[in-house]
Amino acid sequence: MSNTKPTKRLTPASSETLLTLLETLPGALFVVDDAAKIVYANASAQTLLGATREEVCGKPLWRCAPQLVSTALYQAVQKTTQTRVPSEVAYRSPVTQTWLHVQLAPTVGGLLLQFHQGRAARTAAQREAPVPQGERLSIDDLNGLHTRIGVLTPEGIVLEINEVPLDDAHIRREEVIGKPLAEARWWSCSPPSQAQLRAAIARASRGETVRFETVVHPREGMDLHLEATIIPRRDVDHHVEYLVYVGTDITERKRAEAEIHALIDAIPQLVWIMRPDGYQDSFNQRARDYTGLSNEEAQGEGWMQCLHPEDRQRVRSAWQHAVQTGGGYETEMRLRQGTTGEYRWFLSRALPVRDEVGQTLKWFGTATDIDEQKQAEQRIKASEQNWRVLAETLPQLVWTTQPDGRVDYCNQRYCDLTQADFEQIRDYGWRQFLHPEDAEHTLALRQQSLATGELFENECRIRDGRTGAYRWFLARALPMRDATGQILKWFGTCTDIEEQKRAEQQLKESRESLRVLTETVPQLVWVRRPDGLLEYVNQRYRDYTGLLLEQIQSDPWAYLQFFHPDDRESHRAHLQHALDTGAMYEHEQRLRNGQSGEYRWFLARAMPVRDDAGQIVKWFGTATDIDEQKRTEEALRQSQERARVLMNSSIIGINIIEGEQIVDANDTYLRMTGYTREDLRAGRMNWMHMTPPDDLARTLEAHQELATQQSMTPYEKEYVCQGGSRLPVLVGAVVLEHHPFQAIAFVLDNSARKELEQRKDDFISMASHELRNPLAALKMQTQLVRKRLERQSQHEAATALSRVEGPVKQLERLVEELLDVSKIQAGRLEYVRETVDLDALLHEVAETMQQIHTTHTIVVRGAAPRSLVGDKDRLGQIFTNLISNAIKYSPGAETVEMDLSTSEETVTVRVCDHGLGIPREQRDKIFERFYRATGPRQKAIPGLGMGLYIVQEIVKRHGGTITVDSEVGKGSTFTVTLPRKRDA
Ligand code: ADP
Repeated sequence: MSNTKPTKRLTPASSETLLTLLETLPGALFVVDDAAKIVYANASAQTLLGATREEVCGKPLWRCAPQLVSTALYQAVQKTTQTRVPSEVAYRSPVTQTWLHVQLAPTVGGLLLQFHQGRAARTAAQREAPVPQGERLSIDDLNGLHTRIGVLTPEGIVLEINEVPLDDAHIRREEVIGKPLAEARWWSCSPPSQAQLRAAIARASRGETVRFETVVHPREGMDLHLEATIIPRRDVDHHVEYLVYVGTDITERKRAEAEIHALIDAIPQLVWIMRPDGYQDSFNQRARDYTGLSNEEAQGEGWMQCLHPEDRQRVRSAWQHAVQTGGGYETEMRLRQGTTGEYRWFLSRALPVRDEVGQTLKWFGTATDIDEQKQAEQRIKASEQNWRVLAETLPQLVWTTQPDGRVDYCNQRYCDLTQADFEQIRDYGWRQFLHPEDAEHTLALRQQSLATGELFENECRIRDGRTGAYRWFLARALPMRDATGQILKWFGTCTDIEEQKRAEQQLKESRESLRVLTETVPQLVWVRRPDGLLEYVNQRYRDYTGLLLEQIQSDPWAYLQFFHPDDRESHRAHLQHALDTGAMYEHEQRLRNGQSGEYRWFLARAMPVRDDAGQIVKWFGTATDIDEQKRTEEALRQSQERARVLMNSSIIGINIIEGEQIVDANDTYLRMTGYTREDLRAGRMNWMHMTPPDDLARTLEAHQELATQQSMTPYEKEYVCQGGSRLPVLVGAVVLEHHPFQAIAFVLDNSARKELEQRKDDFISMASHELRNPLAALKMQTQLVRKRLERQSQHEAATALSRVEGPVKQLERLVEELLDVSKIQAGRLEYVRETVDLDALLHEVAETMQQIHTTHTIVVRGAAPRSLVGDKDRLGQIFTNLISNAIKYSPGAETVEMDLSTSEETVTVRVCDHGLGIPREQRDKIFERFYRATGPRQKAIPGLGMGLYIVQEIVKRHGGTITVDSEVGKGSTFTVTLPRKRDA
């Protein structure tokens, strides 16, 4: 088929001549079509090829004419076919080594190629046409390179080939030129390699540079490891023009590699080889054994399947990073053991292998089993963690230091205490928290322990950042050493001993206090051992007895000699009981004063001191001087005895009152009042109820006095006895010292005296009445007789009789006063209510008195211009009496003064003399009935002691008061104050 078409085109019927011409041409002449298949070959060409026209026509030029083929020719054909411009090329035939000069001319649908042998035209041809690239470097020049080089058509037909592969196969060049490379002997004997080559040529013809490794068999007994590279070359239009085949002998390298692989397989680590792009190529036997993966399974990223899932992502990115940067790769990962499925830790490392220009050729990686190490590490880490946990849970401050003493760890408690973070504490930062007074000492000790490696122990104060106060700590540190004894670290703790310190201090203080106390207490103090032996006595004890400490220590019973003989036995018994039972020892005993020999009473007491277990450690005892107390007790006992006698006496009634109630009473009192003890117990005795209405005011007054003065002046009153009868009594009372709400009252039966008084009053009353009438008769008779005598002018007799009138008057006044007293006593003194001009009354009295008494001048000063309501005669009686007394009791004096003054409410009259005066203690008594002052001079002055009694009674009845102010030897002033208007 291929024959007909070009024949048709190139052999037109009209071109017979041309053909002839062509046949005769000296050079070989070919006509080829566009695919370079021979359409026509002239006779010279047939000769050259050694084949008939029929044999060659329709076949590719490159396959039929190896002696003509060259890359230069091939390029020229390609070019002329495309450009349709005639060209020429000169080259040396790789097969025949003869120079050929070729002229190429386009024809319709093909080319005309005319070959001339010889170098003659070469220079010109070179000049005229561009010389193809391959021509510059003859392929033969590459023979020395031991590299297999060939030029192929895109279909894989050999255009050129150098000597080396021809030598390998012991074949001639023309046996290969123009033939597919894949069918040449090297490849034909090894179908897999042949397939590899074909595939590579196909890929290269599409424009790709293809590289592959393979093994060829150039000849019998020769295995050649080749690294084949097929490089496409493009023309100006970027079409693939031809292919350059380069085959490098890598047999040696492969052997070396095999050796390396064997070596690698022998390495106890897992080893793998990666491509520059990170693709895993292979790994060693050990890796295969360990992972259970074959090389193929592990290829690419296949190996990652045996990575621990948790490590996969991390390892992948580390690996990718290493590949991208070309830097070293090192990571730890867990790899699964194929047989057991167990994961073990590996340290994986990889390094790139580079060529001279730094291009990465391969990565070599290893994985070393570090599982043991890792587990040990983890154990250490765990133990470290445990230690940390321990350190954090310890109630102490925990710290560690480097061998040089720099703090490299402290627990949280340390930070909490100091309120600082670790950075402030680390190295020597901790010093700032030390108490300034402890710093120097602590640092010196620390330095010393660092130098000697001995235990560091120190008490120091560390500032509590929370309070700002310092606390006491016991700091201790011990070194940790390695197997050679080298110090690796110091472990230290600080234990809070603040409480302990405080307790120690308190103990010290309390011991001191106890010592001071035992020496300062006013008692004798002693300490006994648990067995009772005396161990210590205080100074006071020694001073009292004269015993020395040494004596006590040498003879623990020496003290007994100071006991009163009567007390020794009981003391022993008490002591023994206390020692046996642990109960408190308490005993009263007489101790002899070593100096005076006098015995004094002491109350001895001892208590056991026990330890935490309740065991008695010591006995502490004191002996308190109770001699005074004993005496007081005795005195009290005696006084109680006396009181008891008094209480039991039948003479005096005694009761104890609280409020209105009589809460206790002696038998005498009960007998006096007719009540029973049962009445008393039942609370039926009430002094208010026992007081008759007449005496109520006086009784209340007396109790008022008791309340304010703590005692009442004894007063007379009557009791209403149980049966309703009356009993006159004299009552006095005092408030009980220890019971301020209670008072003790002494009650004397006054009935005998009262009866006597009554009788006396009755007598006075009777006598005064009895005297009054005869006296009145006497007075009247005397006056009548005197008047009769005067009428009879018996003047002498009359005068003599008149002298009787004075004493009669005196007697009359005496009887009047006696009567008044009786009336007062009986409450029957009568008063008239009238308006009295006091001023006038006083002047009248003064005048009358002045007439009678000539020895004194009565001076009236002041005035009482206002009148008052009262009984004029009785009021006159007051002042008559006072003036009379003033004159009577101032025998040597010359004047008696009367001062009158008034206020809105009252009138005051003072009667003042310059006489004897009244002693203080008698001033209240002079107003009592029949009382007379006791001084000898007063006694010499006659009187009955009734005047002032009547005066006071009249003043009282007028609602006034009378007081006396006096100085013995100088005189007295009686002051009467009367209200001006009295409600009757
Ligand atoms: P008599 O004067 O009758 O003794 P009185 O009742 O008048 O009784 O006085 C009582 C006592 O008071 C007198 O005994 C007298 O000792 C004393 N006395 C009264 N007035 C005075 C006075 N002016 N100076 C001194 N003593 C007086």
